Amino acid sequence: MSDHAADEKKKRKGFQVRPGYVVQAYMFALDPGVEVEDRLRSHCGAARAAYNWAVGHVLAAWAQRSAEASYGISEDERTPWRSWSLPPLRKTFNAVKRTDPRFAGWWAGNSKEAYTTGLAHAAAAFDSYAASRRGERAGPKVGVPRFKAKRRARLSCRFTTGTIRVESDRRHVTLPRLGTIRTHENTRRLQRRLANGTARIMSATVSYRRGRWQVAFQVEVQHRTSTPHRPEATAGVDLGVATLAVVADTDGNVHHIPHPRHLNSELTRLRRASRTASRRQGPDRRTGRQPSRRWRKADAERTRIHHRVANLRTDAIHKLTTSLAAEYGTVVVEDLNVAGMLKNRRLARSVADAGFGRIRRQLAYKTAWCGGRLVVADRWFPSSKTCSRCGVAKAKLPLSARTFTCETCGLSLDRDHNAAVNLAALAVCSTGTGVAGDRDAAASKPRRADRKTRTTAGTTRDRRGGPVAQNPHQAGRKRETVAKTPSPGCGDTGTDLPRGNARDAEP
Ligand SMILES: [Zn+2]
Repeated sequence: MSDHAADEKKKRKGFQVRPGYVVQAYMFALDPGVEVEDRLRSHCGAARAAYNWAVGHVLAAWAQRSAEASYGISEDERTPWRSWSLPPLRKTFNAVKRTDPRFAGWWAGNSKEAYTTGLAHAAAAFDSYAASRRGERAGPKVGVPRFKAKRRARLSCRFTTGTIRVESDRRHVTLPRLGTIRTHENTRRLQRRLANGTARIMSATVSYRRGRWQVAFQVEVQHRTSTPHRPEATAGVDLGVATLAVVADTDGNVHHIPHPRHLNSELTRLRRASRTASRRQGPDRRTGRQPSRRWRKADAERTRIHHRVANLRTDAIHKLTTSLAAEYGTVVVEDLNVAGMLKNRRLARSVADAGFGRIRRQLAYKTAWCGGRLVVADRWFPSSKTCSRCGVAKAKLPLSARTFTCETCGLSLDRDHNAAVNLAALAVCSTGTGVAGDRDAAASKPRRADRKTRTTAGTTRDRRGGPVAQNPHQAGRKRETVAKTPSPGCGDTGTDLPRGNARDAEP
């Protein structure tokens, strides 16, 4: 979350993180009383109302203009466009809030920051839509902003001005209009930095997730420069489903980090909770039926289990990435196609449970903080199929084969261990050109355009009718039929790919 926050701040004009500082998030669960919870809900509702107002305000001009165009009104006589940037939106909103029947009776009950939250989100939504239309935005297409429904909107409200304070008793926080709220956990990790002047709160966001209120402080923190314990060592990290990660370093050590499987162990309890809820009278939108008190109770229990799973997972991932970043000078991970893997319904749960995307993202910023570097291996680097001793790559390696056996030199090794060793070796080959593993750069061919057209792992598996994928690498790597040395059977297929391009991740 912290790196996201940093990116967001960087984009904002005029803001520069001071040298020696990083922007980081500190999140605490809250224990609001009944009155405070009412105020929290009111603020988040106000943010949603302001968002909907802004979306309607901008879209009304669009609709009006297109209607006028259909009557044949000339371009310069049509209703002018309405700006969706925050300052004009806020100015117009402040002008209408006293008179508009949607706000007139109640707007004064909430902090102005609540309305600004909604207006800023609307401005961001229109910006994303515009950038996506211009083709300047990565990821899936973004549509025209839509209204937020009360039953679906996430409750959230951000404060950037006013009294934002972490109390010195380390058990309370104070927010504008909401007052002093008890925290569920101790706030010492932030409070002691505020007290000694090495941190400054920039904003506070309250939100409601999985049955609990929480506050996230965006904080500018003085960065303690450090160096990894072993700056010369490189670790190759092979992420998997069977084991969460296999870490092989250049000194020959291997650690198997078992998959926490928190979700699996909690799944039985979750199934039971869901079954209980389904037997009780739940809400029904078609008939407008309200859920029974007993259903609410069962639903709360179900939410609680989900909450626990998510917390355990977050904890395990943070511990893994922190220990890797603190120990090794260089960490090599693969560029896994997580979105693609999640489309495989047999793998999706395990992949989502392991949190590969988060591991990669956390490694990127934690290695930067710890003075190390992260190397991301190319998605097509055949880490599993290459022999880590002699460098010969196999044409095929079924996912059911958990042991890698080399026909050339006779090496026999655990599959993931072999892959991790290959990844570690990749960074050693990197000579600062930004391309790792390019052992024979001259022989490499440019990336073939047709590679991306075959995206789903499913086709391979369906055709083969083979066993269920055991390894997430398959999805991202099905085209690793390659080799530096042509292997029997695939030498003439022409599918030779670069031996693995890697790029240093952006710090
Ligand atoms: Zn070999």
